[in-house]
Amino acid sequence: MDYYIKDINLAKKGKKAVEISLNDMPGIVELERMYSDKKPLAGVKITGCVIVTYETAAFILLLKKLGADLRWSSDNKYASLDDACAYIASEGVPIFATSELTDEKFFWCMKQSAKFPVGGNSKFAWPDIVIDDGCDITRFLHEKFPEAYDNLKGTCEQTTCGVNAHQNLKKEGKLKTIVINVNESVTKSKFDNIYGSRESLIEGIQSTINIQIGGKKAIVYGYGEVGKGCAKVLRGMGANICVVEIDPIIAMQAKMEGFEILSREEAATTGEIFVSATGCIKTIAEQDIVLMRNGAILMNMGHGNMEIDTEFLLRTKKFEVEEINEGLKKIKITDDRNIFLLADGYLVNLVGASGHPPRVMSITYTNHVLAILEILNNPGKYQKGEIYRMPRTLDEQAARLNFPSIGGKLTILSDEQEKYLGCKKEGPFKREDYRY
Ligand code: NAD
Repeated sequence: MDYYIKDINLAKKGKKAVEISLNDMPGIVELERMYSDKKPLAGVKITGCVIVTYETAAFILLLKKLGADLRWSSDNKYASLDDACAYIASEGVPIFATSELTDEKFFWCMKQSAKFPVGGNSKFAWPDIVIDDGCDITRFLHEKFPEAYDNLKGTCEQTTCGVNAHQNLKKEGKLKTIVINVNESVTKSKFDNIYGSRESLIEGIQSTINIQIGGKKAIVYGYGEVGKGCAKVLRGMGANICVVEIDPIIAMQAKMEGFEILSREEAATTGEIFVSATGCIKTIAEQDIVLMRNGAILMNMGHGNMEIDTEFLLRTKKFEVEEINEGLKKIKITDDRNIFLLADGYLVNLVGASGHPPRVMSITYTNHVLAILEILNNPGKYQKGEIYRMPRTLDEQAARLNFPSIGGKLTILSDEQEKYLGCKKEGPFKREDYRY
């Protein structure tokens, strides 16, 4: 039994849910149609360390159909869906993830996902390709098993904070492989981060706490891609949005959208709903929390569980904490003030709900498949120890693979227009530095 999951009997339930997601994952379906006969990943050992949602499960099964030899774990201790994991295990993919892991089991699972048994005895091989989300398995392997990098052909990193962490490894001279920065594909960060968050934030709030969003003052910390999605959906629900930012360009963008820009103090004293989306530690910390009004609701949409200072809130044992339900804690700050913390300060859309919807995840996972094929099909093109964005042509291909079912018809340049613009009818349509 080469898996560690909660309950294999959940496989049937997981299969049904994954099939529903697949209905809205056009890129994944198209890649299967194009490549399942050719098996371009035959014999390629792939370790994935990405939270297992129904959409991730659809992606894992696609990689299997393309011939990959796969092992999987999650970058998140809490948020994998047990029925999705059971379905993956029932399909014969070694998977090591549950909806609740201790620290010790979390790292054990990562290790299992990176070691590929060879020949029935205790021998094993390391992966050819790593798919990472947050640089978690990369950091783990660098520290504990540096030999894992001897033959690694490349890593695909899918999120903002993971790309930053890979940049830090590079600065320290410790990056040992080719990294494809999938996060900064336009078809990833401008879709998953914005439109994914725009939908899954609301599911996260409504599955953890029963409140009316309309009419409340919501503070969004960080108006980057994720923050933009959060601010827009909360405004759509009728909330009054204010933004806390450190970057004057981004703050001006928020202002132009009609959002007020507040200092931390102003935000803390006047807000009712607080959403952190910065990727930065202690975005909401003691100095903010002590100013908050009774009934304030705190949640994180950014990185791990580091953006809200849960050390201060939960672990110093300063405050009386009541668990209202699994994703909701009521914390008594003073005799007359309680605040509510969603999903223990972890990502509310993943730990408190089922994550981004299928269509944006289809685009993200299409990018991963194209990135893996790019690394494997072009030996020598990329250098170890460097981080690369996806070439613009592949970014456009990810859009094309997902576009048909999104609807609409693209216009094709005439010969005259092609000449005038200096770009080909089939693309790429923009310079590498175009900012969308
Ligand atoms: P981004 O860099 O586009 O935006 C972050 C913004 O936060 C920037 O504008 C920055 O100036 C601002 N900021 C940084 N520190 C701040 C602070 N202390 N106070 C106020 N503002 C601050 O990044 P992004 O793509 O929006 O991603 C943000 C985080 O969300 C990352 O950690 C990323 O990994 C994560 N993410 C989460 C999900 C999800 O499903 N919840 C999806 C994608 C990305």
